[in-house]
Amino acid sequence: MIGIKATVPLEIILAAGLRPVDLNHLFITSNSPGKLVTQAETAGFSHNICAWIKGIYSTVINHGIREVIAVTGGDCSNTIALGEVLERRGVRVIPFEYPLDRSRETLQAQMESLRKELSTTWHEIEGMGSRLESIRAKLKRLDQLTYAKNVVTGLENHQFLVSSSDFNGNPDLFEKDLEQFLAKVQDRTPRTDEIRLGYLGVPPIFTQFYEFIESLDARVVFNEVQRQFSMPFGQVDIVEQYLQYTYPYDIGTRLRDIKEAINGRQLDGLIHYTQTFCYRQIYDIVLREVIPIPILTLEGDRPGPVDGRTALRIETFVEMLRARKGELV
Ligand code: SF4
Repeated sequence: MIGIKATVPLEIILAAGLRPVDLNHLFITSNSPGKLVTQAETAGFSHNICAWIKGIYSTVINHGIREVIAVTGGDCSNTIALGEVLERRGVRVIPFEYPLDRSRETLQAQMESLRKELSTTWHEIEGMGSRLESIRAKLKRLDQLTYAKNVVTGLENHQFLVSSSDFNGNPDLFEKDLEQFLAKVQDRTPRTDEIRLGYLGVPPIFTQFYEFIESLDARVVFNEVQRQFSMPFGQVDIVEQYLQYTYPYDIGTRLRDIKEAINGRQLDGLIHYTQTFCYRQIYDIVLREVIPIPILTLEGDRPGPVDGRTALRIETFVEMLRARKGELV
């Protein structure tokens, strides 16, 4: 078992016969994620450190995870310090870096170093790449069923796509669940939600988020970062695949991806989720300057259900979009 703090070339981990565990999932799906945050604060993490970092620290300690891959370039600087603290707790921390300039040579060198560290071969990695590609194609189908056929909810879309960061540690089982789900939704009656939303930013720390939106006759039909986790880029070589992945690089390619979704998925509005104390909040400035449709920026701090204020803001936003749509037709 090897913990991952952010998306890394999964093909290398699986080819090495290891089981990847996305620490974000393990933290947020635990029985009491709030307690994990408090546990880290008791261990010395300050109030103004992002809750994901604190929850991941406690998750690694409580699960006795002995090896972690830390993304030290392309994720956040908190990860670097977290990795150093974990090393002091006896965890083997393997760094992995996405090059800011998106250089193919540099990324290839990073992947080569990870390959050596985990003792596998390029032949095995490429074989794993083809294996995962067939699952990625099915996830692409699930996404199409969400925005084109309208038979998949925003939550279902989120759950499958977000889990593709580690394929729940078992690609075969993941694929089986996915196939069963795809077979089941074929016969559903298409939804006719009035308002179509896009969700931008890191996955929400809130629970009941997608369900609340759907209670308002609205639906998320584009989960930006979760979709990126699924790498729906088709048959490209493995280095190219991780170059096309938008999340770790500059915002330029993210913007192109978002604009394509706005038109292709007929989005009425966007929800930009930001995490308290996360540097990625700053991108809100750029999004608001460039994106042509209304954006609601939300901020989440600690794990828990959507709070009253956030719920009211979502409700008002959806009502505004509904009125706007009425005026446009
Ligand atoms: S939400 Fe932001 S600060 Fe927190 S772990 Fe993710 S990138 Fe880092």
